[in-house]
Amino acid sequence: MIYDVIIIGAGASGLFLGANLNGKKVAILEKNSSAGKKILASGGGRCNITNRFISTKNYLGEQKFIEQILKILAPDQVLNFFSELKFSEQKQNQFFCDSGAKSVLNVLLKRQKADIFYNEEVLGAKKVDEIFEILTKDEKFRARNLVIASGGLSYKALGASDIGYKIANDFGIETSTLSPALVGFSVQKDEFWFKELSGVSLKADVKINSKNESYKFSGDLLFTHRGISGPAILNASLFWQKGRICINFLPKFNEKNLINGKKQLSSVLPLPKRFVLEFLKKFGLKDRAFYEFNDNERQIIKRLFAYEFAPAGTFGFERAEVTKGGVKSEFLDENLQAYNVKGLYFVGEVLDITGMLGGYNLHFAFASALKVARVLNL
Ligand SMILES: Cc1cc2nc3c(=O)[nH]c(=O)nc-3n(C[C@H](O)[C@H](O)[C@H](O)COP(=O)(O)OP(=O)(O)OC[C@H]3O[C@@H](n4cnc5c(N)ncnc54)[C@H](O)[C@@H]3O)c2cc1C
Repeated sequence: MIYDVIIIGAGASGLFLGANLNGKKVAILEKNSSAGKKILASGGGRCNITNRFISTKNYLGEQKFIEQILKILAPDQVLNFFSELKFSEQKQNQFFCDSGAKSVLNVLLKRQKADIFYNEEVLGAKKVDEIFEILTKDEKFRARNLVIASGGLSYKALGASDIGYKIANDFGIETSTLSPALVGFSVQKDEFWFKELSGVSLKADVKINSKNESYKFSGDLLFTHRGISGPAILNASLFWQKGRICINFLPKFNEKNLINGKKQLSSVLPLPKRFVLEFLKKFGLKDRAFYEFNDNERQIIKRLFAYEFAPAGTFGFERAEVTKGGVKSEFLDENLQAYNVKGLYFVGEVLDITGMLGGYNLHFAFASALKVARVLNL
């Protein structure tokens, strides 16, 4: 049996593609025993499916290439596809599913036009006389078109594998360096005091310099037993390439208000008391009124407005929401088809395109899948 299309991966992009292909014989090969494990975990189980404002600026990667993919799918069209579900717009224009990620997955499965084969881990693919041969542990599948929708390396527990990059490389298509992104930072010895604050969260501005450009992310920052996480840090991790970052723990507080205060510092600062006490302890200071500190000590306290340090690293692929890097877009035409292998397509996270936190990655998975569906439906 020769399929018109075989899709590797029943994740966000593979399922969306399978739901948008018409009149074709399509199979999805999935290594897990069920579909869309990452979708189920997305948005803390509430699936942040898209964002009101989608723009190339929210993505790392070749901007022109990204633009023509995003053009094909507006946020409203994503919501319309899931029209039986209700979505609420929350902070930073993110749309979350009121009934949870499971119902998002159910709609994708309900609209499915592909046959899904579970427990079929793809090990490799080759092309023999115009036909792709896709090898799994026990079987060989054959198809005229092959779409790689196998995602990135992040969260192995949810099914991640390197098969997409391997198939690309086997066909002579290059991949860029892969690294964990949308992930927390582990800390060096000087910042071990962060670990004492596990569970504390606060609003902060995180600044990062990358390739002579400066980026600032505002939002929640969360201390964990390994270091720091939370939306502001996750976004910063997308641009971080080793080196120092700078955190303003008091983004909305005017320095002048320090001087007026007669109360103890921990009562004056709009910060969790536990945080202020741990900070003071780290620098051997007591909780006093600001005027009682000497000049040196005041300089230390002012570091709260610009606390600079170099993270030790990230929490790694095991905890990263996405993989930065992937199949290089210069090897693909505008329909995401490999220039050098007719009928071979790449969609979703396997590409060298990574979105910020906020629904951008699922949106991209859907948009890239739709782009390929349009051309395969012709
Ligand atoms: C915890 C978590 C929360 C997230 N929350 C959000 C969010 O709220 N909003 C958002 O926009 N993004 C979120 N993301 C990112 C988003 O889920 C991914 O970017 C998106 O799922 C990528 O879609 P994809 O189809 O490319 O890959 P995936 O959805 O990862 O699907 C790939 C599929 O391929 C299968 N596969 C892998 N290797 C093989 C193989 N060898 N053979 C057969 N099958 C294979 C996998 O099992 C998987 O089912 C989150 C990610 C994580 C980890």
